[in-house]
Amino acid sequence: MATTTTSMDQVLERVRANEQAGIQRLLDWLRIPSVSTDQAFKGDVRKAAQWCADRLKEAGIDASLKETGTKDKPGHPIVWAQHPGPKGYTGPHILFYGHYDVQPPDPLNLWKSPPFEPVILPADGKGDVPQERIVARGAVDDKGQVATFLEAARAWHETANEIPCKMTIIIEGEEESGSANLERFCNENKSALEQCDICVISDTGMLGRGKPAITSGVRGLAYTEIKLHAADQDLHSGMWGGRCPNPINELAKVIAQLWDKDRRVTIPGFYDDVQDVPQADRDAWAPIARDYPKMLEKIGMGSDANVGEKGFNALEREWIRPTCDCNGIYGGYMGEGAKTVIPAWAGAKVSFRLVANQDPAKITKLFRTWLDDHTPPGCRWEFHDHGGGFPGNVASQSPYMQAAMRALGTAGGGADPAIIRTGGSIPVVGMLKGDFGLDTLLVGFGLDDDRVHSPNEKFELDCYRLGCRTHVALMDELARMKP
Ligand SMILES: [Zn+2]
Repeated sequence: MATTTTSMDQVLERVRANEQAGIQRLLDWLRIPSVSTDQAFKGDVRKAAQWCADRLKEAGIDASLKETGTKDKPGHPIVWAQHPGPKGYTGPHILFYGHYDVQPPDPLNLWKSPPFEPVILPADGKGDVPQERIVARGAVDDKGQVATFLEAARAWHETANEIPCKMTIIIEGEEESGSANLERFCNENKSALEQCDICVISDTGMLGRGKPAITSGVRGLAYTEIKLHAADQDLHSGMWGGRCPNPINELAKVIAQLWDKDRRVTIPGFYDDVQDVPQADRDAWAPIARDYPKMLEKIGMGSDANVGEKGFNALEREWIRPTCDCNGIYGGYMGEGAKTVIPAWAGAKVSFRLVANQDPAKITKLFRTWLDDHTPPGCRWEFHDHGGGFPGNVASQSPYMQAAMRALGTAGGGADPAIIRTGGSIPVVGMLKGDFGLDTLLVGFGLDDDRVHSPNEKFELDCYRLGCRTHVALMDELARMKP
């Protein structure tokens, strides 16, 4: 194998030497307005895909565009590439996922320079303010971050004439418009994806400037809609009130029973599969500076609003605990003024954020059983499953996580990267976990003030450099592992 420490240093040196050319390449990519949600940009979206495939080919990786969707409803192409790794390779098979499409640039009048005419702006000053940066739509989400991977691959190819690991690469063109065709595409390429051992994605952020982080967990989701039916018609509340069930009253009572006094979800079995998080991980998050009173104040509440499941602090409740929320409730008379009606039915949307190792289908089933056990007299349920996704989580002690930590350490000059999580859900992570059992390392280089999806989106060059160096080191680290 060509992956000795010396050669990795050479590759890092090559990345440095290529830096200006690499940035120019990224600017070229950013000039292509690959807005996936708007059919007017269809040709540009394809152009951006081809651009990416061409850069992979230059790095010695066999890449092509794969069509997606159906005849009636064609999708945007996926950049698909596979690389066998060096001769006699015995390490893990890596899946790299990214996306080349971007959000629409609107509102255009708020951009200080045109969104598809990238510019490089100098640092704003000292301290924690924007540093030298590329400003353009897609600068950080996700072309700029994918470019760091492309440059790392190029540097390996140019230095060692080899990419050190076996890889499958998917660069999608519909992430910003809902990834409508990704799951089908992945299932069509099931045999390749089932051989992958770990997925790497660079589409998230760091803790702050100079504070690299790996996002080790995302929450899953189970989304349901329920309707409680009573009479077969709306009724007069004077004649029927107090004589038969009012589905709004009854639905409200049922929903209120979803939590106990400790704000724990009462559905039997709900917590059965929840993985305990090691105390060491929880301790490691303690120093993460987050001003929760301030965050509450920003949304119009006092610190007495810091409520949630007993026994866990706000950060833990967001990152490692499952939740249940009623997202909508409706029924009865909702027009102007008074109408004394007892409605025939009432509905609610109820969803669950899930953590490892909860299964969305199982949670939905438990909820349905619980509802049946709580059916108010004379009423019946109508139940809709709106789907969801699996949670994803890579343990901090996992060898893949350790490899990523070392890579970030090497790339960032030894600064200890943080292992963080997010309370949100990243659909591709849940899909890869649910369909292929694949865990994902979210190694991202964005910053909180990058204006993702907003006017004047930026990617700071220090973050770009860290990304390129990290991907060089990560390929080396992963190649040394046993799958
Ligand atoms: Zn993105």
